[in-house]
Amino acid sequence: MVDQSHSNNNVSTPLCGEPYLLTPGPLSTAAQVKQAMLKDWGSWDDDFRAMTREMRTAIVDMIEDHANDYECVPIQGSGTFVVEAMLGTLLPENSHTLVLMNGAYGKRIAQTLSRIGRRHTTIDKGDYLPPRADEVEATLTQDPTITHVVVVHCETSSGILNPIEEIATVVAATGRKLLIDSMSAFGAIAISARKTPFTALVSSANKCIEGTPGFGFAIIRKADLLNAEGNCHSLSLDLYDQWQQMERNGQWRYTPPTHVIAAFTAALDLHRNEGGVCGRFNRYTQNRDTLVSGMKKLGFKTLLDGRWLSPIIVTFLNPADKNFSFDHFYQLMKSQGFIIYPGKLTEVDSFRIGCIGQLNSQIMQQVVDAAAHSLNKLQVEHAGPETSHPDAVL
Ligand SMILES: *Cc1c(COP(=O)(O)O)cnc(C)c1O
Repeated sequence: MVDQSHSNNNVSTPLCGEPYLLTPGPLSTAAQVKQAMLKDWGSWDDDFRAMTREMRTAIVDMIEDHANDYECVPIQGSGTFVVEAMLGTLLPENSHTLVLMNGAYGKRIAQTLSRIGRRHTTIDKGDYLPPRADEVEATLTQDPTITHVVVVHCETSSGILNPIEEIATVVAATGRKLLIDSMSAFGAIAISARKTPFTALVSSANKCIEGTPGFGFAIIRKADLLNAEGNCHSLSLDLYDQWQQMERNGQWRYTPPTHVIAAFTAALDLHRNEGGVCGRFNRYTQNRDTLVSGMKKLGFKTLLDGRWLSPIIVTFLNPADKNFSFDHFYQLMKSQGFIIYPGKLTEVDSFRIGCIGQLNSQIMQQVVDAAAHSLNKLQVEHAGPETSHPDAVL
C-alpha cells in the first residue's frame, strides 16, 4: 500500500485501503466531499433550493470578466448528457456547426450532432494535433453557412490543451458563436469571457472541481439562452426548460442527485479555500511536473511536446521493450495503490496518468517510484518507446 505519511495536509488521504485514482474523473475526492453525502435532502425544501442557487452563482463567478452576462444551468447525468443538452438547446434546426476534432471527445460531439440531426462540418486533426486559428478562419471564410463552432478545451483522450483563446478570437471576429466542451479543464484553467468570447461552456461535477459524478452544468450567455426556447430535440435535456423552472421556483425539473449536489457544494468550498482556479491550476501543474520529470528519468516519453501538455492528464507512450505489457503494469501499479488509465489513441499504444483530484506532488513522486518498481518487476530495461513512434512533432 501507499506510504501516506509524507502526504501534506492540503489533500485528503484515501480511506483505509482505497487506491488513489490517477484518472480524469471520477477521481479521488476529499473526506469533506464524501462526508457531505451522508445527509438526505428534500429536493423541494428551501435549504436545498438555496444550495442550488448558491452553486449556480459560484460556478458563473469562476469565469473571469463574465459581466453578469451568463447563466449557469445544471442538468442531471454524466458529462456527455450536458454536452448533448448544450448542442440540442443552442443549435437551432437550421444551424450549421463546425466541429473541431482532435480526439475521442471531439468525435463524440460530431456523433451527437449526427444523432440529433444537426448539420455539421468537421476539421479532424487526428489523435493529438491542435486545431489552429488560421485553419478555422479559412473554413469560416469559405463557408458562410456555418453559424456555430464547437471546440474541446482539454481533449482528455490525449491530454492536449487546445488553443481556445485564438480560436475564440477568430470565431467572434467572423460573427459566429462558440460552444466549448471544457469538461476536464473548467475550474483549473482560467477562462475570461473577454479574452475567450463564448456562447456556452459545459463541465461536470467530477472533474476539476473534485466532486462526485451525477450532474453536469452549462454556462450560457443569457441573450442566447433567451433565444433557445423550443430548439431542443429532447424533453429531459432541454436546458432552456430547466433554466425556466429554476428561475421560477428554484427547483430542478425531475429528481436531482441531491447527495451529489451536497458533495459538490463541499467541493466548491475546498476549491475556494485553495485559492480558486489559480490555486488549483498551481497544484495540478506541480503534480504534472513531478510526474513528467520523474517518468522521463525512467525513460518514458510523453506523446506531446511540453508546450501542449495540460496539467490535467498526461499520455505516455508504451515502452518498446518486449517485456512490457500494459495489463501487467496496470496490475502492479494497482497493487501499490494507484489506479492508472489506459490510452485512447488510435495509432500508437499508450497509457495515461491523471494529475487531478486529491493528489499533490509528494503523491506523484510515489507514483513515479511505483512505476520504477513495476518496470523492475516486469524486467523492462528501458522505458523508451519504439523510435518509429511519432516524435512529438509539435
Ligand atoms: C469527461 C469528459 C466528457 C464527459 O464524459 P462522461 O463520461 O460522460 O462524464 C466529455 N468531454 C471531455 C473533454 C471529458 O473529459
